[in-house]
Amino acid sequence: MLKVISSANGKIGLKAAMDVLKRGGTAVDAVEVGCRIVESNPEDRTVGYGGLPNLIGEVELDASIMDGNTLAAGAVGAVKRFEHPISIARKVMEELPHVMLVGEGAERFAREMGFEEKDLLTPESRAIWERGLREKVTGVYEDRMAYMEALRKYVHMAADPEKHLGTVNFIAMDRYGRIACGVSTSGWAWKYPGRLGDSPVIGAGNYADSRYGAAACTGRGEMTIRLCTARSIVLYMASGMSLDQAARKAMTELLDLQDPYWGRVSCIVMDARGNHGAYTIGGPSSYAVITEDMDEPEELPRVEITR
Ligand code: ASP
Repeated sequence: MLKVISSANGKIGLKAAMDVLKRGGTAVDAVEVGCRIVESNPEDRTVGYGGLPNLIGEVELDASIMDGNTLAAGAVGAVKRFEHPISIARKVMEELPHVMLVGEGAERFAREMGFEEKDLLTPESRAIWERGLREKVTGVYEDRMAYMEALRKYVHMAADPEKHLGTVNFIAMDRYGRIACGVSTSGWAWKYPGRLGDSPVIGAGNYADSRYGAAACTGRGEMTIRLCTARSIVLYMASGMSLDQAARKAMTELLDLQDPYWGRVSCIVMDARGNHGAYTIGGPSSYAVITEDMDEPEELPRVEITR
């Protein structure tokens, strides 16, 4: 049964992703198409065009894609001025003997692959970024270094769970039962320039293995990087746990993690039989699903894991 699941903000891309599968496309094709739609949505301040910028007002994007059949993966981090990091990540996977490119190297590669550059900072996102800083940073700074030093105190705004956070996750299963997983984000607003979250880190924010299943995360990437959450969920399923047992175990590990900036983390999960679920250690939230027999995607609640 063809199936695609996503974080709630991916709902707008689910029908297009399903159409790809119905036309015979692969799970990798489907998650890329789904992510691209969210990356182009200026209303989504957590992904792609219109994403909220880093501490110094630059939109820096992270993304990764993994083919659960071959365990091939591609990722890019801290990419500026390219709207579709998921597609650059796919090119890394397919064209290079590497898994991950960051910053200038990723941008050089994107240019070589023919991707077009674009200003990603919308006036709305710029206004939110400025307002956030204006509330905090006061005073006059004689030079850029002094200003950066003053700003650094406020980078913790990036770890404030009340502030803007989010990422888009897609997992698809195609007609051959192959699973792929795609993740794309502008990361945390006001993050320190060059900071990478979990979205481009294979095993932390994204993992797919068609024999067992796939998992993808949103939320405080600094926590899932330390616990390798996406890979843990898949590994727990590989060791014989059900999807529910595996996800609960990984989410409980996050609950118990010591972290001065402890924050919400959520995941979506699919197993090799196409069962799916979503879990969170934050408040109520949802994820979305479409199967080949559905005209419209459906939103379902995530399971909340508490102490
Ligand atoms: N996981 C993303 C990151 O750490 C952000 C998020 O999903 O809120 O960059």
